[in-house]
Amino acid sequence: MDDTAYPQALLDRFIAITGPAHALTSQSDIGPYLTEGRGLYHGASPLVLKPGDTEQVSQILKLASETSTPVVPVSGGTGLVGGQVPRDGGRDIVLSLERMNRIREVDAVANVIVADGGCILADIQKAAEDHDRLFPLSLGSEGSCRIGGNLSTNAGGTAVLAYGNVRQLCLGLEVVLPTGEIWNGLRRLKKDNSGYDLRDLFIGSEGTLGIITGAVLKMLPRPLGHEVAFAGLSSPADALKLFQLAANLCGGALTGFELMPRLGVEFTTRHISGVRDPLQDPHPWYALIDISTSDSAQTAETMMQAVLEAGYEAGLVGDAVIAASVSQQQAIWHMRESMSDAQKPEGGSIKHDVSVPVSRVPQFMAQADAAVMAAVPGARICAFGHLGDGNIHYNISQPVGADKAQFIGRWREINAIVHAIVRASGGSISAEHGVGQLKRDELIGIRPAIETELMNRIKRAFDPAGILNPGKVIAPR
Ligand SMILES: Cc1cc2nc3c(=O)[nH]c(=O)nc-3n(C[C@H](O)[C@H](O)[C@H](O)COP(=O)(O)OP(=O)(O)OC[C@H]3O[C@@H](n4cnc5c(N)ncnc54)[C@H](O)[C@@H]3O)c2cc1C
Repeated sequence: MDDTAYPQALLDRFIAITGPAHALTSQSDIGPYLTEGRGLYHGASPLVLKPGDTEQVSQILKLASETSTPVVPVSGGTGLVGGQVPRDGGRDIVLSLERMNRIREVDAVANVIVADGGCILADIQKAAEDHDRLFPLSLGSEGSCRIGGNLSTNAGGTAVLAYGNVRQLCLGLEVVLPTGEIWNGLRRLKKDNSGYDLRDLFIGSEGTLGIITGAVLKMLPRPLGHEVAFAGLSSPADALKLFQLAANLCGGALTGFELMPRLGVEFTTRHISGVRDPLQDPHPWYALIDISTSDSAQTAETMMQAVLEAGYEAGLVGDAVIAASVSQQQAIWHMRESMSDAQKPEGGSIKHDVSVPVSRVPQFMAQADAAVMAAVPGARICAFGHLGDGNIHYNISQPVGADKAQFIGRWREINAIVHAIVRASGGSISAEHGVGQLKRDELIGIRPAIETELMNRIKRAFDPAGILNPGKVIAPR
């Protein structure tokens, strides 16, 4: 990186806003902000700023707009599409929300939490729990991702089936615009048809339209009953039938329905400490079924038994176990959430975060499997995910003994094969992780031209100087 890209005097003006104690200037300190978990992106930056409040964020963006200095917002840094990573060239300044981590208010009457944009998701869940409420957004990264990042990526997670994406859990936002202006939209209204929905525009915009510094979030009653089961199945088609059965029997109480392949269970039991297969014999596929009920614990228990009995009777379930304790429930979820990490020791892994209409999941998987195996004989397909949402993390581990770099070098080629089948199935190539850098150019060829044009016009209206997270989601001017 050329760290002389900016005159020191300009960097000093930025540093003066947060104070030197909250500005990182040495490359060894900045290093962790320049990459992401998968190691796909590695950027460069001369400066990381850690503002302490909304006013400081505003001053930074005002100065950035005046001086045409690109700024990349980062919250927990767990994003999977390179959105939070500065670009090459060393001109992007990183703005980290990590110090803005306060719960501002919990209102148990209105059932809302008001939190800083840098609040860690697990802390928000805990604050709700302390008031005997539930904040249902739950992700494998919840111990480190922050609500501003969740909102900016419209995160999904494990309970979308019952509660929706984070968009459905947010009532209002406070946002600093690229110009430095502050929009206080911290409303607590369920009904508000007073014009364009700016909140919805910022949610999912991946830090390209504004920096989320605060949010009003919905809390829900804490379920009284919670059951988790793990069922061995023969195929994704049977999993879909079991899902329909469970949805009919449980309605809104069905909180999660996750699909896992045998290979994923083998990877997790092999590589993730403490994970064991809950069933005695192996099965080609597995479903994790999660039921939460608000009236009583007994209702959840009865429902889960009814689902499994119906599954056995229909010949869908080979074997199943219902978790007997909270720790067993957590262990089953831990297996599911470790599935991606467990692929790492198996070598290179090419990932897809796709969704198709739920009814087409088995057909999509059969077609994608055939096409991938034809392109990469010996590939080890480890496709798992939120079957109930039609969202599959279609991951492919390299053939045993293959050259890792050579395999990863085929990322775009394999993406093109899988994504063509997704599109033919009426699906999306970015279900929950967003666009970032990873899918920006691919989407240009897929989205209707008018959609891209409208997005460009919105970007120009919010960010006339083009300084906020340029090069992410849409191509820079
Ligand atoms: C183990 C693991 C499991 C995951 N599971 C799921 C899952 O189940 N479902 C799912 O949807 N995602 C999942 N993810 C990816 C997901 O996007 C993130 O974990 C999370 O939502 C991102 O939050 P973050 O704070 O880490 O954001 P970051 O990575 O810091 O940023 C993500 C994007 O938002 C922008 N941004 C960050 N903060 C702000 C802000 N305050 N204002 C404006 N823009 C901002 C960044 O510039 C970037 O473009 C997972 C990731 C990991 C590592």
